[in-house]
This record gives sequence, structure tokens and C-alpha cells, in this order.
Amino acid sequence: MKKIYFTPGPSQLYPSFKHHMGEAIKEDIGSISHRSLKFKRIYQDTVSSLKRLMDIPPGHHVLFLSSSLESMERIVESCVEKHSYHLVNGSFSQKFHEIALEVKKDAKKTEAIWGEGFNMESLKIPKMSEIICVTQNETSTGVSIPMEEIYKLKSVYPEKLLVADVVSSIPYPKIDFNKIDAVFFSVQKGFGLPAGLSILIVNDLIIKKAKLLKKKGQNVGSYHNLISLYEKSLIEQTPETPNVINIYLLGKVCREMLKIGIAEIRKRTEAKADLIYQYFDRHPNYLPFVGNKRWRSKTTIAINVKGKSDQVVRRLEKLGLIVGKGYGKFKNDHVRIANFPSHRLKDVRILLRNF
Ligand SMILES: *Cc1c(COP(=O)(O)O)cnc(C)c1O
Repeated sequence: MKKIYFTPGPSQLYPSFKHHMGEAIKEDIGSISHRSLKFKRIYQDTVSSLKRLMDIPPGHHVLFLSSSLESMERIVESCVEKHSYHLVNGSFSQKFHEIALEVKKDAKKTEAIWGEGFNMESLKIPKMSEIICVTQNETSTGVSIPMEEIYKLKSVYPEKLLVADVVSSIPYPKIDFNKIDAVFFSVQKGFGLPAGLSILIVNDLIIKKAKLLKKKGQNVGSYHNLISLYEKSLIEQTPETPNVINIYLLGKVCREMLKIGIAEIRKRTEAKADLIYQYFDRHPNYLPFVGNKRWRSKTTIAINVKGKSDQVVRRLEKLGLIVGKGYGKFKNDHVRIANFPSHRLKDVRILLRNF
């Protein structure tokens, strides 16, 4: 039976994935050297396609890491001398905070009720904090913080670095890279690719900070520190043998998305999200977990099924419709539906009809 994965990552593969994978095999991408000219061309092509798709300014650096949890660790390890600050409103933002503690930073946090966002104006961020870490789309709860809200932090605290986890929303949100210092995401969510590649986009301030800390004698990480990643990126390489196939595939998917156009992709995302929320706002038993429309994610939608998660997931699975269970403490109460570019409107309709 054909299955459709509405899971919030890994998720449904991009419709043209099979074709690109076939091409990758024909072109021996799995065997080429990561120091070869062929790899440099792939690297260049992927970075330039991604920059066009996401409107990333030329002076910003696109770095390839292994996972987004790794991106979190590299950021705090390479850019924080002592003090980091975290907005925590779910499992992934909590993880970011824990990672900072694990690498021995003095990591402070402000917690919001899970299922809600933050009132940026009322936050009191410690003076000492060198970096502010925000999870723009909390996959565990289905809460999304509008980019405009996040930029406010940069205007109030211009001397602090500002970083956003956009793992499960990209390519949907439009990012103004002049108002944020770094963002990162993994390819197994909105890009519909197999896991094992995280993209970290940084400006020069991030690299400058890492260099400063290194000069002071601080440990900024080993082979994958932000300086080594940056320096290798200047010659279209990575410090280690990277996930070459995924870098190749990401370039191909970016090109497919460019053909459709990012504005159209955003429009489709909104249309599908509206359909899903409208359905559950009228549902007699189940309801969207995030009540406040302002905080509702368009890309990872959590539905409160009141303890029936297992039942709902299993029933849908029999029809080939794979949805996610709740995350962490919401395991039994929620199901989560991803709404990525790989998900077609007609499949969303089929899912809702059978829910
Ligand atoms: C999936 C996810 C991550 C972790 O990504 P990995 O590639 O598994 O490390 C981090 N943050 C958010 C918001 C996510 O949804």
C-alpha cells in the first residue's frame, strides 16, 4: 500500500526525490572524493540555489553540519564564552538550553507555557547574555513565533548575537538575514530529504566571535568548529567527509522549489494549513492544541485528541496515512500533522476526510 508520511520529520520525501536519487547513482555521487572538483561544483550549486531560494545575502555563510542538534552545540561551543540565554516553550528549545549546560555554559532561560509563545516586550534578558537562542517553530507543541517578533530582540539587544532554530518551518518563513545572526535547519523536514544534514547559515559576527574566543584560548570545538567550517566553506569544502549525497539532493530540491517559486510555495502552505485548522476548529472532539491563532504553526500542527493518540495513529496507518504521535509529555494526547512542501493539497484533503 502506498503510504503518505505526514510525520513532522523525517517526513514525506519530496516528489522528485526518486528521480534525483537515480541521477545521483548514475553520476557516482556516492563514490566521488570530497576534495574533487566535482564535489566543489555540487557544493557551489547547492549553496547558490539555497541562497536564491531563501534570499540569503552574498556575505552570509552556508555551513554543512550533521544534524540540527549538532548545529545547536556548535553555536554555543564556538560563540559563547560563558553566558547564553534561551527562550524555552517546548522540547526542542529545552534541548538547546540543555546542550548549552552540557558544554558547561551558564545557560539562562525564560519558559513560556508549552503551547504558547512569548511576549518579547516583557522579556528581561540578563545583561551578561552573549547570545539569545529562539526556537522559531516548536515542533513538539506546534507553536510558531513570527520572525518579526524575533527581530524585536535584535533591536532591543543589538550587542547580543541572535540565533533561531527554523528546523521545522523552513522554507515557509521569510527571513530577513540583516536582522538575525544565525539560523539553522535539517533537510528531513521541509525539504523532504532523508536525515543526516543540517544547514547553518551565519553572518560575519558569528565567525568573528568564534575567532575571538579561540584567540583567548577557549575550546571552540574540534574538527567541526565554526571557524574550520567557515574556512573550508571559502574553498567549497568541509573539514570532514560530508553527507555528499544529501548536499547534492538539497541542491536539486532547491532548484525544483525555485521552479515553483517561493511565493507560490508559501501560498500553498498557508492554504493547506487553513484547511487543517478550519477542520479541527469545527471538530466535535478534537481541537488544535495551540488555541491562540497568533502562535499557530503552519508547518507542524499539533492536535489534541485527548488520550486517543495511539488509536488515531493506528487507524490512519491502516489507510496508509502516517501521522506523528505527540512529542514527549504529549505522547498520548496529541497527534502531529506536518504540512511541508512535499504534502499535496489533495493528500491533505484525504487525510482530513479520514481523520
Ligand atoms: C527535528 C528538530 C530538531 C533536531 O533536528 P536533528 O536533525 O534531528 O538534529 C531541532 N529542532 C527542531 C525544532 C526540530 O523540529
